[in-house]
Amino acid sequence: MATLLERGRAGKITAEMEAVAAREGIEPERIRHGVENGTIVIVSGHGRSEYVTGIGNGLRTKVNASIGTSSDLADLKMELEKASVAQAAGADTLMELSTAGDLDEIRRRVLEAVSLPVGNVPLYQASSESAVRFGSNLEMTASFLFELVERQAADGIGFMAIHCGVNRLTLQTLSSQGGRSGGLVSRGGAFMSAWMSHHDCENPLYEQFDRLIEILHEYDVVLSLGNGMRAGATADATDKAQIQELLINAQLADRARQAGVQAMLEGPGHIPIDEIEANVILEKRLSGGKPFYMLGPITTDIAPGHDHITAAIGSAWAAAYGTDFICYVTPAEHLGLPYPEDVRQGVMAARIAAHVGDMIKLGRRQKDLEMGRARRSLDWEAQFALALDPDGARSVRDMRPGSESDGCSMCGDQCALKVADSAIAPACP
Ligand code: SF4
Repeated sequence: MATLLERGRAGKITAEMEAVAAREGIEPERIRHGVENGTIVIVSGHGRSEYVTGIGNGLRTKVNASIGTSSDLADLKMELEKASVAQAAGADTLMELSTAGDLDEIRRRVLEAVSLPVGNVPLYQASSESAVRFGSNLEMTASFLFELVERQAADGIGFMAIHCGVNRLTLQTLSSQGGRSGGLVSRGGAFMSAWMSHHDCENPLYEQFDRLIEILHEYDVVLSLGNGMRAGATADATDKAQIQELLINAQLADRARQAGVQAMLEGPGHIPIDEIEANVILEKRLSGGKPFYMLGPITTDIAPGHDHITAAIGSAWAAAYGTDFICYVTPAEHLGLPYPEDVRQGVMAARIAAHVGDMIKLGRRQKDLEMGRARRSLDWEAQFALALDPDGARSVRDMRPGSESDGCSMCGDQCALKVADSAIAPACP
């Protein structure tokens, strides 16, 4: 069956394109054209058309929330709660990244629990299950890896982060550049590097790229070209290894699209704030404008416990410069597996960052204007309705004295908005 990209190329406006256009408030033909020229991808999943997410040029910046078990904490019930919390908090996609427990069962239950498109990293399951099946994760076979990609795609995974660009050239570049302060922090990138070194051979996801693309085409999965060389320390940002992988990923994205598979590229990672713009320009220039999925970006290394904030700062800049998709970071980042409340805080921080970026990138300022007016007129219900987190805003107000008055406890009877009334500061039309 023709993929969404192939139908778009044939001039057809699909139901998925209509749905994205309606939600974004733009013409369906613009969405079709973006899919055709590769600047927009639409993520759904095999057999999952209830909710689709459009990512790319001219569209609202989207937010991903990642969940998943680890060997230290594998609790299916909590993962299902995290999935629901992420969806309720307004995430646009979910990544299910479990590495412990019954991974097929967890994936299928999460897919049942949410209507959001769900992505994953096939290497995680391949690594975890190879340890059991072959005695060591380093004994993973290429056939087993491709078998898992197909199993996950058939279950309804809508986008896959696949580390094809971690090839021999990238690893040579990494070793010749004189080291790294923060090492490798991409689990998929680190595992694939170790596997290649152990077997002294090329990455099968690179070497047998056509085999991979055939599977993704069969289930119409969006290829998210993984950033295995992303920096885990701001000192390593934008180094040679990262850019080498980006060059390879840009070429592979073109090959995927030629074969009818939608593609986007992933990016850093830890990065000082003044390198974000360059990273966005490089990705857009090298890839021909394909959607850019930034992981973080975390703008300082010294705020563990608050990395939803360090990432939100970077994400706002990234979105303003043209990044299309950002991965949330929770307060538990670098410290432990997130709990449901961490997930909620991470999604909210990323949504705020995305909106701040969209005020610049897309000029989306109408709600900010309306909020200013609602504040001026002390219209609390209007303020809650306009808020990115209405329940959170309402509960902060309700918890404090004075919530029954028209002002608030911040200034009490010295409410500036009452003191400088309309005679002094008349409202704009
Ligand atoms: S009391 Fe102060 S903070 Fe509260 S609404 Fe009036 S001016 Fe704003």
